[in-house]
Amino acid sequence: CGIVGIVGWQPVSERLVDALKRLEYRGYDSAGVATITDGALHRRRSEGKLINLETRLKEEPLSGTIGIAHTRWATHGAPTEGNAHPHFTDGVAVVHNGIIENFAELKNELGVGAEFQTETDTEVVAHLLARHRREGMGRGEAVHTMLKRVRGAYALAILFEDDPSTIMAARNGPPLAIGHGNGEMFLGSDAIALAPFTNEITYLMDGDWAIVGRTGAQIFDFDGRPVERARQTSKASA
Ligand code: GLU
Repeated sequence: CGIVGIVGWQPVSERLVDALKRLEYRGYDSAGVATITDGALHRRRSEGKLINLETRLKEEPLSGTIGIAHTRWATHGAPTEGNAHPHFTDGVAVVHNGIIENFAELKNELGVGAEFQTETDTEVVAHLLARHRREGMGRGEAVHTMLKRVRGAYALAILFEDDPSTIMAARNGPPLAIGHGNGEMFLGSDAIALAPFTNEITYLMDGDWAIVGRTGAQIFDFDGRPVERARQTSKASA
């Protein structure tokens, strides 16, 4: 399973799938990609191997210079296209590796107001974020508040439809790295995935979350305090 993200100025969908291929060694059962174009979220998903997602994208290309992508190793819900990430709810897109342990409790709490479209544990993250935005929170506050509610292991990448120049990320358990490019920034489960784009990497620590824009990233700890994380040059080859 794996996560990649790109926020930049060139088309992203093909590059995202190429980066996912570099994470195939981790195993997966389905895959998906989402971008923002013309102010709206769009996605393509498919069961099985990445070749299926590529075929989908050939039939129905996805434009956009910001996007997130995912290979899923199903833990909750069958490995169907419908359960594949990214999950969309009310202008929020989420990809997740890991397990949200208290998803049933959160789903209960969200109640009838939230219409769940998948059987995954992950979907509560999208619903929580959408709810926090409806309550009037900004994007950062919504992410921080959501992180305080979920328990479990996660690497997360999030898009908000109303901000086509930022990817939000969070890590607690599964690794997640930010890659520094030239007018483009990247997100990936490891440096190998990002090697074709950049070798300049900042790993998030457990409990960290980040706001990643075209020219840089702001990183915060679990309490919402800005933190500095070392930037390193990875030896992974492209
Ligand atoms: N628990 C999530 C799901 O089953 C994410 C699985 C993964 O790590 O890919 O959809």
